[in-house]
Amino acid sequence: MKFGGTSVASGENIRHIANLIANYVGQGYAIVAVISALKGVTDRLVEASEQAKNGNRDYIREFIQEIVEKHLTATRKAVENKVIRKAVEQEIRATVDELEKVLTGIIYLGELTPKSKDYVLSFGERLSTPIVWGALRDLGLNAQHYTGKDVGIVTDSNFGEASPLMNVTKHQVKEKIEPLLGKGIVPVVTGYIAATQDGVTTTLGRGGSDYTATIVGAALDVDEVWVWTDVDGLMTSDPKIVPSAKMMPELSFQEATEMTIFGAKAMHPRALEPVMEENIPVRIRNAFNPENPGTLIVKEQKIKPGDAVKAITLVKDVALVNVSGAGMVGAPGTAAKVFDVLGKENINILMISQSVSEANISFIIQRSLLERAVSTLEIALLGRGLIREVTAENDVCVVAVVGAGMKGTPGVASRIFTAIARKGINIRMIAQGSSELNISFVVKEIDGEETVRAVHEEFKLNKI
Ligand code: ADP
Ligand code: ASP
Ligand code: MG
Repeated sequence: MKFGGTSVASGENIRHIANLIANYVGQGYAIVAVISALKGVTDRLVEASEQAKNGNRDYIREFIQEIVEKHLTATRKAVENKVIRKAVEQEIRATVDELEKVLTGIIYLGELTPKSKDYVLSFGERLSTPIVWGALRDLGLNAQHYTGKDVGIVTDSNFGEASPLMNVTKHQVKEKIEPLLGKGIVPVVTGYIAATQDGVTTTLGRGGSDYTATIVGAALDVDEVWVWTDVDGLMTSDPKIVPSAKMMPELSFQEATEMTIFGAKAMHPRALEPVMEENIPVRIRNAFNPENPGTLIVKEQKIKPGDAVKAITLVKDVALVNVSGAGMVGAPGTAAKVFDVLGKENINILMISQSVSEANISFIIQRSLLERAVSTLEIALLGRGLIREVTAENDVCVVAVVGAGMKGTPGVASRIFTAIARKGINIRMIAQGSSELNISFVVKEIDGEETVRAVHEEFKLNKI
């Protein structure tokens, strides 16, 4: 069971999920709990690391105060037993002391490397997990808490977006956790954070607690992975954009993967990989509405006739890069060169399209990587006459329309684009994977939400 930021947003919520876990343990389930940082804390840590780099001592002093208070307040609400509460409080103070030292170090160095940033970001989960542990102990459960590193999750050293080394990880996690479960212990594990083989702290990328849960699930060959969150399941669209969005009772791994890659934030984009290989079902559920069975993600693709489009997602914070030049026409390997250059910089490409004339290639990347992408491309390619120009737009977003039933159903694209045209919205770029599982396109960011609503309405997804 994985609990996201909202599920542990406050002491009351932590008590609530501890009761939820205790209830299932009482029914005979063996459970590993994977815990996110308290809501908003990871964002605050990102901000603090930047402020530290800029030498803002006052900010850091106040930030440390705020973090201690936040976690101690949650502890007071979550844990009643005095002895247990004291143990949690001590741990929080010691951990925050360490955080303060790290941030002070960054102030002195005036430098924030991806490695040191991961170290800072790891503190959110390191602070939340002991509180959940305390709440479980308070309820009389035999719980123990661990970091991802403690349980043996090892990754490469791609700080900020590290990939697990699955073979070693699976072996180590199994060795560590299985005996605990055998003794009736409930292991409570930090989500999101892991370590390199040398023991240096890494993170799995934002939203990575989902990934931790499926890694642990695959290692233990569990029956199911349950992702507890603040919505009833995966919905036909983000309910914050389309209030009439409906919960989908069942989805295939493939469909869910397309959705998460394209921003259905309920899950980390790579989180389904470990369980997909082992064919372990995943359930997305609402921690505050546990009577609802949630969305079940399984292997089989169930397609009902007429059910072409299932869901629409919106990806913000992206940028469009356009590489052009007549030299690209009929020059084999230009695309390879472009993607090679970006790949070496660890810049992930979300979407690609190339015109028939071959005179330009457009692609979409994360907005925060834009400057690096453009300068890398300019340095590597401009000088060689292969391309003439690299241009970029950073006020765009991607809308992705997903559904296994779109495969072989003619007319879906035309309905989508007609619906959008009716709203007077201009499309900047289009791509359809040959899987035909999704059609994605790029519009101006200010038009993004309206585009999502228009397509949702066109396919009457609120009526399904
Ligand atoms: P957690 O803190 O539990 O990890 P996240 O914020 O990462 O939760 O993900 C849950 C949020 O994802 C929901 O509150 C919802 O607003 C958003 N979301 C976006 N698209 C979808 C979708 N298609 N289905 C469900 N939730 C979505
Ligand atoms: N706390 C991390 C984040 O906000 C991981 C997670 O919550 O899944 O990205
Ligand atoms: Mg999340």
